[in-house]
Amino acid sequence: MKVMKFGGTSVGSPERMKNVSTLVTSSGEPVFVVLSAMSGTTNSLVEISDYLYKKNPEGANEIINRLEQKYMQHVEELYSTDEMKKTTAEFLHGEFDYLRSFTKDLFTSFEEKSIVAQGEIMSTNMVVNYLKECGIKATLLSALDFMRTDKNGEPDTQYIKEKLNAVLAEAPESQVYITQGFICRNAYGEVDNLQRGGSDYTASLIGAAAGAEEIQIWTDIDGMHNNDPRVVDKTEAVRQLHFEEAAELAYFGAKILHPTCIQPAKYAGIPVRLLNTMEPDAPGTIIDNVTLKGKIKAVAAKDNITAIKIKSSRMLLATGFLRKVFEIFESYQTAIDMVATSEVGVSMSIDNSSHLTEIVDELKKYGTVTVDTDMCIVCVVGDLDWSNVGFETLATDALKDIPVRMISYGGSNYNISFLIRERDKKRALQSLSDTLFNKEQ
Ligand code: ADP
Ligand code: ASP
Ligand code: MG
Repeated sequence: MKVMKFGGTSVGSPERMKNVSTLVTSSGEPVFVVLSAMSGTTNSLVEISDYLYKKNPEGANEIINRLEQKYMQHVEELYSTDEMKKTTAEFLHGEFDYLRSFTKDLFTSFEEKSIVAQGEIMSTNMVVNYLKECGIKATLLSALDFMRTDKNGEPDTQYIKEKLNAVLAEAPESQVYITQGFICRNAYGEVDNLQRGGSDYTASLIGAAAGAEEIQIWTDIDGMHNNDPRVVDKTEAVRQLHFEEAAELAYFGAKILHPTCIQPAKYAGIPVRLLNTMEPDAPGTIIDNVTLKGKIKAVAAKDNITAIKIKSSRMLLATGFLRKVFEIFESYQTAIDMVATSEVGVSMSIDNSSHLTEIVDELKKYGTVTVDTDMCIVCVVGDLDWSNVGFETLATDALKDIPVRMISYGGSNYNISFLIRERDKKRALQSLSDTLFNKEQ
């Protein structure tokens, strides 16, 4: 069976939902479909929660009412029979009444998670009702029955596998199985989620649990591009990526795929295919275990990076210095992205600066600390095995007019990263694109 995941834009209007229904039935084979909330809905639900945290039920109600009106309009446009219009409208009214019920009580993160879960619950119900109206055998499976995280907040893969297969066995006759992306229960059985953008992760976890032949991520663009299409001219879709290359790109800013989505597929050896809902026949991008010898595939950039340098004569010939430095970051749950060391100093980059002040305070016990904010990591991805020659020169040459704060190379066989100022990003990405991909060959 194939898993097909459709993102927010792909289910963003009644028209798009009809399109999804055509796509999921076109092969004639049973498929497992994972849906996001309609685009904008999760943001609205977060905004509603924000008003409720701030004890402003009026603000929350205003958004709830506006959203309800929009959904009722969708119902009118999506269904052709009065019966299905009525069934779906009743269901959605129930959902909005549920959202309104939170405006009366104490509000915590527990309630917020129940609220943000409703976007996917609504979109899946709408699509499954549409499929049924079209006479298709579709079954809605509640992700809350089988998606679960453990005490560390990590997906409980054993539980997911057992429960999912049990749930599937109960509905063996279906053409289309539909479930919600993003939402799950935690180890205590409470409603929870896999973090923003987490529907891709759901699709990958389900693909691995069900032993799917392929995991398809359908979005609004033709596959992973060799550079950020929102920033750079003349980008092109990359037709194939190794799992590791895709993981680096997703982590370093190529928004098309959530970084967590790669690992379950990679471990289960299931290829991931990125496809375009607007152009379903376009080849998209396949992500698998194949490395193309000596090929640079793509460039991505991650903003809001802070660089921290600690210089200390104590580091000279000392052991254990790096451990002390890294422990400080760990104690503030701050992940380090890039590291560069010399005999007297070490530079690190972080993207979560919420504990920057405390970290810098503690680092000062060990040396002189300098901080650079508003930086950006530019990451070049491809077969960058160290035995290949010439690629470092090409990348550094493209950046010859741009001040580079740090370089990281050799951490994996697939990546070389540069830390530059955020304001130089556009120029850097364009120049890398021209040098690496748009040169006459
Ligand atoms: P969905 O709602 O389907 O999950 P997202 O909004 O999360 O979609 O992500 C898709 C968007 O990511 C595209 O519209 C595209 O503009 C953007 N994007 C950023 N970098 C890249 C890249 N390297 N390749 C393709 N798309 C990219
Ligand atoms: N709806 C969720 C979000 O907007 C999850 C997703 O779409 O992947 O973050
Ligand atoms: Mg997404």
